Amino acid sequence: METARGPVPLSSLGPVLSHEHLFINLMAERRGDGLLHDEALMARELAVFAKQGGGAIFDLTTAELTPGSTLDSERSFDARRAGQTRNPRAVEAVRRVSEATGVHVVLGTGRYRDPFLDPELIAELGVAGLAAEMVHDLTVGFADTGIRAGLIGEVGADKWFISEVEEQVFRAAAAASVQTGAPVYTHAARWTVGVEQSELLVSCGVAPEKIAIGHVDTVPSVDYAVELAARGHYVGIDTIYSTAPAALEHRVAQVLALVRAGHRDRILLAHDVCVASLLQANGGPGFGLVMGEFRAALLAAGIGEDEFRSMMVENPARYLAPSESGAAGTPKKRASPSA
Ligand SMILES: [Zn+2]
Repeated sequence: METARGPVPLSSLGPVLSHEHLFINLMAERRGDGLLHDEALMARELAVFAKQGGGAIFDLTTAELTPGSTLDSERSFDARRAGQTRNPRAVEAVRRVSEATGVHVVLGTGRYRDPFLDPELIAELGVAGLAAEMVHDLTVGFADTGIRAGLIGEVGADKWFISEVEEQVFRAAAAASVQTGAPVYTHAARWTVGVEQSELLVSCGVAPEKIAIGHVDTVPSVDYAVELAARGHYVGIDTIYSTAPAALEHRVAQVLALVRAGHRDRILLAHDVCVASLLQANGGPGFGLVMGEFRAALLAAGIGEDEFRSMMVENPARYLAPSESGAAGTPKKRASPSA
């Protein structure tokens, strides 16, 4: 498995948070709160997860979210240019945070969603050009860092439908996934647009088990979560960042419904740390809520310790592993399941 510190055996990842961000610039939407660029602070925050026994995170910060996401960001990096998919200084900072904490980081590649996508760039690159960027990051590495992406995402839809520009990115993500075997992780917040994402990606040849629909817990429906799992997808209960009773209860209810419907093996858990106010240093849950209070809430609701562990360890590893059935024509480019 490719990580910020190079390839490691898939079996060595341990408990995984499936959707997080270490360095991110969301200031276009969250001015004042939407910037994580303090390396020492992020290392302290991630160390909390390590102390809980955490082993790895997926860092799903895609192209448009990375300019200015480190103090040493270069002016020359511009996500509105072809091939500039991740601020290389941020990739290197992720590696240092991983080294400092011992937590593995699997990096995502791709382009984000409206309104961050530049329609002119998307039109210029087209599906083939966008796919080539992702394949490059997955097989060669980000810019000159030598650090490779391990999955595609987050790629998303901003609203309750996939826009024309976003559709180009989804088609490219599908092509890159089919070519490399890498899984795709989506952003589908608030509305049930994950169903449309599922249909589009599957129609492009992506195996259902290589697709994770993200932010399913931001949708006020339990049936939606079960439907996505029944389609064979991984379900991101991945915005676990509030201890407000209603927020916790909804997420516990979704997990229970998935388990009762026989889909425990499709659940992925995370916080989606993406703004400063979510850090523990600022009074937020940081990277500690899933293995802390959320785990306790699940156990209180009747989930077994071994069941929780399998959601954290086995599900992400299976999602990342080379597909057994495989999408039609998927070359077995990636290493064996144990690497
Ligand atoms: Zn995210």
